[in-house]
Amino acid sequence: MTSERRQPTIAVLAVQGAFLEHEQRLERLGCSCIELRKASDLDQPFDGLVLPGGESTVQGKLIDELGMLEPLRCLIMEGLPVLATCAGLILLAREISDDSTSDPTRSPRLATMLVTVRRNAYGRQLGSFHTSQDFSGLGEVPMTFIRAPFVEQAETGVEVLARVDGRIVAVRFGSQIAVSFHPELDSCDAIHTLFVNEIRV
Ligand code: GLN
Repeated sequence: MTSERRQPTIAVLAVQGAFLEHEQRLERLGCSCIELRKASDLDQPFDGLVLPGGESTVQGKLIDELGMLEPLRCLIMEGLPVLATCAGLILLAREISDDSTSDPTRSPRLATMLVTVRRNAYGRQLGSFHTSQDFSGLGEVPMTFIRAPFVEQAETGVEVLARVDGRIVAVRFGSQIAVSFHPELDSCDAIHTLFVNEIRV
């Protein structure tokens, strides 16, 4: 017996940052994408969520002001598969270790992942670099870091998927996958494929 699988629909947060590159990659992998720019965009059905890189403080403020913070938090808590990259990892983090944005009233975040994240963790001088490292279950994956955060502490239940120089740069917590780097900027499809395979449609 063959089972028909329909094309997954992915909602890509499109208020700021590098969302177009994710859309192009996901469409190439057979997904259709919708953009989340305002609360009513959440009325459309979708199967997964991408939180792109960019500036997490701006993104957090915008999704709060636009009325998307609580609805998105609820969907994630209910098990919506998420792929978060760079600033997206910061939006998901329960704690931020290094600056005033750890005060959730000053910098709203989704805070659905039990990790502590350090923003701009590689310093502003050494902001950008490229490497290839082992990623759990995927082998070696190219990784482009741009003013990236890393995970300082992962609570019980958070699986570490990759490290660079001993620092945690990729994690999974339930159906949330978050990486410090920018898989949408490299030609390798492995991270997006991992995410799409999480989605049952
Ligand atoms: N430094 C940015 C922040 O703190 C993240 C950078 C990125 O997404 N490339 O939000």
